[in-house]
Amino acid sequence: MDKPRKESQLVDKPRKESQLVDKPQKKVIFLDRDGTIIENVLYLNDPLKVKFLPHTFEGMRQLAEAGFEFAIVTNQSGIVRGLVTDENLTAIHKKIENELVEQGLKILKFYHAPFKGEHPMRKPNPGMIFQAAKDFPIDLKESWIFGDRRVDTEAGRKAGLKGSIQFTTTEYLEMDAHLPESEVTAADMLEAANFVLSF
Ligand SMILES: [Mg+2]
Repeated sequence: MDKPRKESQLVDKPRKESQLVDKPQKKVIFLDRDGTIIENVLYLNDPLKVKFLPHTFEGMRQLAEAGFEFAIVTNQSGIVRGLVTDENLTAIHKKIENELVEQGLKILKFYHAPFKGEHPMRKPNPGMIFQAAKDFPIDLKESWIFGDRRVDTEAGRKAGLKGSIQFTTTEYLEMDAHLPESEVTAADMLEAANFVLSF
C-alpha cells in the first residue's frame, strides 16, 4: 500500500524541457468531403451515391503510416437550403466512416457547417478547423488541408496550417474567383500524400 505522502512531495518538481510535453500534439490532415474523398454530387442527400475517388484509401494510408490523423471539414449549406436532411447527412457520414474503417482508416471527427453565406464556421473561414483544435490536441502548424476548391485552401491559410493542397478534381469555379489561387495542386489523394511526405 502507498504511504501517505508529505505535503512537500505533492508539489511537482520543475521539469526538464523534454518532459513538458504532456499531450501528444496531433498532426492532422483536414479533408474536404465532396470532390476530395468522394465524388462531387451537388447537395448529396443519398448514402447510396457515396463513391470514393480513386487512390483515396491508398493516399490516406500512407499519411496515416507517417503519423497523420484525419478530420472531415465539409460545408453543407444544403441543410439550410432544405435540400439535405440531417438524417441523410448522418447516414452519409456513417457510410463514409464505415468504408474507411474497413480500409483500416479512422476519422477523428466529421465537422459540417450547415449555413449559407458568410459564417465563421463556413469555409473559406476557419471555424471548423479551430473547433477541431479545441476538441483535440492538434498542432495546426504541422497540419494540412486538402480540398477541391479555393474555399478549402483559403480556410487552411486563415487557420495557419502548414499547407493547403487543392485537388484538380473539380473544374475551375467562377464563384471562387475572388479567393487566392492555391499554391499547390494535386490530381488525387496519393499525389497530395506524396507531396506532404516529401517535406
Ligand atoms: Mg469540395
